[in-house]
Amino acid sequence: MLAIPYLDKGGKPLTIRFRCLQEHNHRDFFHGKYNTIKDDIPRMYGIDAIHQAGDTIDITEGELDRAILRKLGLFAVAAPGANMWQGRHRRMLAGFSKVRVWGDPDEAGAEFSSKICRQLRTAQAMRLRVGDVTETYLAGGAEAVLSLIDDEV
Ligand SMILES: [Zn+2]
Repeated sequence: MLAIPYLDKGGKPLTIRFRCLQEHNHRDFFHGKYNTIKDDIPRMYGIDAIHQAGDTIDITEGELDRAILRKLGLFAVAAPGANMWQGRHRRMLAGFSKVRVWGDPDEAGAEFSSKICRQLRTAQAMRLRVGDVTETYLAGGAEAVLSLIDDEV
């Protein structure tokens, strides 16, 4: 499995999540696609970006989507799944004048985006069309992702 370390702003590990990279039915192997240490609380991933960003921050619906945005030079954090945004996370993003929300183009993603937009008046939902951030990047490269930002201006 791919190990996804959650680090604090100083690079100290807070927890690790695991993503199975096999194309199989994970339930048949008694694990999920994503696996979390038992009793661990949902955390924001990549919080070093909060301390490096200027007045804009991006938030994605998964760790790998966040990795793509970071690769493209954006300062991004991730919730580990559509249902993993918690009200207490709001305070971490409250200081930014713009919060771009990259929910997947599906029902869970729409709910993820609208939940954050309800809680943060600085939040704006990005309109992904092709797929999630990773799929959009794989289909059209950096331009396909970054052009969505230009759309919003
Ligand atoms: Zn598996």
